[in-house]
Amino acid sequence: MQNATSACFVRPVLVVPPERPDKPEEACGVYAVMAADQPVANLAYFGLYALQHRGQESAGIAVFGEDDQVRMHKDMGLVSQVFDQEVLERLPGFLAIGHNRYSTTGSSKVCNAQPVLLNTRLGPFALAHNGNLVNAAELRHELADLASELTSTTDSELIAFAVQQAVNGGLAWDAAIRQAAGRCRGAFSLVIGTPEGLFALRDGHGIRPLVFGHLGDTHQAQWVVSSETCGLDIIGASFDDDVQPGEVIHFRQGDPTPQRSRWIEEPAKLCVFEMIYFARPDSRFFGESLYSYRVRIGEVLARETPVAADIVIGVPDSGIPAAIGYSQVSGIPFGDGLIKNRYVGRTFIQPTQAMREAGIRVKLNPLPDVLAGKRVVVIDDSIVRGTTSRKLVAALRDAGATEVHMRISSPPVTHPCFYGIDTDTQDQLIAARLTLEEIAAHLGVDSLAYLTKEGMVEAAQAHSGHFCTACFDGAYPIEMDEAVRASKLRLEPAGLAAARPLAAAAAP
Ligand code: SF4
Repeated sequence: MQNATSACFVRPVLVVPPERPDKPEEACGVYAVMAADQPVANLAYFGLYALQHRGQESAGIAVFGEDDQVRMHKDMGLVSQVFDQEVLERLPGFLAIGHNRYSTTGSSKVCNAQPVLLNTRLGPFALAHNGNLVNAAELRHELADLASELTSTTDSELIAFAVQQAVNGGLAWDAAIRQAAGRCRGAFSLVIGTPEGLFALRDGHGIRPLVFGHLGDTHQAQWVVSSETCGLDIIGASFDDDVQPGEVIHFRQGDPTPQRSRWIEEPAKLCVFEMIYFARPDSRFFGESLYSYRVRIGEVLARETPVAADIVIGVPDSGIPAAIGYSQVSGIPFGDGLIKNRYVGRTFIQPTQAMREAGIRVKLNPLPDVLAGKRVVVIDDSIVRGTTSRKLVAALRDAGATEVHMRISSPPVTHPCFYGIDTDTQDQLIAARLTLEEIAAHLGVDSLAYLTKEGMVEAAQAHSGHFCTACFDGAYPIEMDEAVRASKLRLEPAGLAAARPLAAAAAP
């Protein structure tokens, strides 16, 4: 007779210790709808819902009413937790500004939720920001006179105060917004609602994305601005164009022609991690869905890092398209070897240690039926610290994988981000400290290989020169003060990362 223990089948479950997650974390989503005779608060609700992956700490909507009042509701939590129909009905009007937040500057608390709503001599305005300023301390010093009025610890409020100061100093909205933008250094995609309509603006490099489109016919002048195109799709809005890097667009009520102009000319440097991992796969960048781009990355990865194996699996969700591409080129069958609990959410967006610990423990579960007895290629989009990957490899082996070959669909992350993505300090980035062989040994894989930077560029095709790739090569497009650099670049200038050459492709 079998004893009770041996008869009991225990499926391996991925358990991650209570520490920072093994992924960079996205900043925010911004959204705006200007459409007379439409329930703009409801439309903004759906838009923010589509952008939920960009920030899960807080959500807010400010609405400009026909009675010249601005009504706002914002709170901690997911969009579906912050708003219900009763709340949305208390937000009537023609122009809505919305925001989902993940904190990169300022802690996770309701006073830091956006939009930021301020008054001026020309009336109120509401501002929502995605990105991160690298001169926030300097700007705070410049705005010292307003220090007693600051209600948050965010750089977004500083941008709003710069706009307010410019308007109250005598400038019109357009000039005030340009002047305020000129005082900011860093990444900022902004939507700003004013009594004279909606403004959308990106920093000179366009580090964070921002697109616009319209509802109905363009002559109806019903405009929508969103961090990603998935925010247009969800309400049936047509895509018109990106807000270009360094561009400011003024959408006026009833005017079918937005006023577009540059406030600064700089080379485009969209965050390449938006392409690889952050943005939703159904969002379109450069006229193509990110799903297609990520499949192509997997194809390049397969050509660069071949290995003999029985099955290719992806780490859900963002590793799946690259795994499909890897499978197509290698001829190794693709399979679903990891099941994600879709009701846990993107746990790595949660900012506190305790929240992460609670969230990630139930996120991924390997399928022994698919993995047992197989040589497995597992594709993930990135490794930051290596903690999650190490647990993942152990779980795959527990599920019966005979070999585990890890392939990463981005180059090694050796440098922290200062532009709105919450990455660790450099000394915590595993690829900044260890060689490829050391990382492979730490993870317990049979082989490990990363996409090369050249491969990443190849997959980007015609747009290869238009990306910030600083977390892979340290080529920061926006200069930072030494104090800012020192806050995260803890291995520089000693150049430990440079002194530790990471071969991009390991021999299996
Ligand atoms: S440093 Fe990395 S994460 Fe930050 S904007 Fe540049 S590519 Fe994106």
